[in-house]
Amino acid sequence: MTSNNIKQLDKEYIAQTYGRFDLALSHGKGCDVWDVEGKQYLDFTSGIGVNSLGWADDDWLSAITAQAGKLQHTSNLFFTEPSSQLAKKLVSTSGLKRAFFCNSGAEANEGAVKTARKYSHDKYGTGRSTILTLVNSFHGRTISTLAATGQDVFHQHFFPFTDGFEYVPANDIDALKIRLNTDDVCAILVEVLQGEGGVCALDNDYLQAVQSLCQEKDLVFIIDEVQTGIGRTGTMFSYQQFGLQPDIVSLAKGLGGGLPIGAFLLGNKVEHTLGKSDHGSTFGGNPVTCAGANVVLDKITPDFLKEVQRKGQSLQQRLNALPKVKSVSGLGLMIGVEFEEGILASDIVTKCIEQGVLFLTAKSKLRLLPPLIISDEQIEQGIKVLKEVLESR
Ligand SMILES: *Cc1c(COP(=O)(O)O)cnc(C)c1O
Repeated sequence: MTSNNIKQLDKEYIAQTYGRFDLALSHGKGCDVWDVEGKQYLDFTSGIGVNSLGWADDDWLSAITAQAGKLQHTSNLFFTEPSSQLAKKLVSTSGLKRAFFCNSGAEANEGAVKTARKYSHDKYGTGRSTILTLVNSFHGRTISTLAATGQDVFHQHFFPFTDGFEYVPANDIDALKIRLNTDDVCAILVEVLQGEGGVCALDNDYLQAVQSLCQEKDLVFIIDEVQTGIGRTGTMFSYQQFGLQPDIVSLAKGLGGGLPIGAFLLGNKVEHTLGKSDHGSTFGGNPVTCAGANVVLDKITPDFLKEVQRKGQSLQQRLNALPKVKSVSGLGLMIGVEFEEGILASDIVTKCIEQGVLFLTAKSKLRLLPPLIISDEQIEQGIKVLKEVLESR
């Protein structure tokens, strides 16, 4: 099929909820991807932070194909090796105690919310179910995770939303303390580095205060690592750079290396909160996706993470030196670029596509989420194209 055929079918038969790039992709390898007409692109998107090992990593590919030939799905009525192994790896690298597997970030956050509410209900009874999240956060697209998302644009059309979510301004410790004066709150849910909100990191002081307040008031401290987790920011989890110990961590995007998987990890406080039949998911813990995720975790070693940090710093430095750039934010290989007034990130993305490089946007910023395996030469190449595009503005 030509791109035009594919686009035509999409227009006619797929719900038109996405503003797609004008590009139909065919196949990829490493950080390179080709459209159906055979034009090559260098990728700084990794499927929105998902293909952490790039396209078609050899080991990942052989693990999932081998597993698909053995058991493609069993249901959760049976024990299987890939999910048990994966849980052990996640526990040992996170410092939390147990994992629950699901299929997406929204579903992971739903599970985190259920766990936090049950923890509070078991211990304190009713009337203590409010979950505080931050203004400008993003937690997913289901009715409850939209309610958890602290951005008004997401609170349209779909009423009634799930009750019991309230938003406090990020980095404002006093506002949080005031809100906690009444004891109806059971949990605080934050992203350490807000992704969809524009790649904005929280202050260390604020994060420490959130953690202390959670300990002091026995609130469940939930960190959404759906975008930041599994090496993206240069440590396995972004909270590790701040010395935090959350009670629940939600994961998805980069965990599977490209196959749909989500997870939430349970710390000491809540490891036994969910009992038999309290939660479930038909596809959760799927052996094929877990076999792929096991390879991802095996490859993200301390040395690999050092490289992510080094490449992230080099990329940030180079971005800072570009014309028309006002500021650069982010951690590791999760980076946002704010341009001077009059430069639209979406225009820059379109121009870069013409020149064979793929970037993302987040709000008004340019966003970079390259595969974690990107090379120094590929970083140079991307910067060169971006520079040319910016100079021609
Ligand atoms: C992408 C994202 C989600 C939602 O994940 P889905 O897999 O699309 O449901 C939740 N939280 C954060 C921080 C995200 O970046």
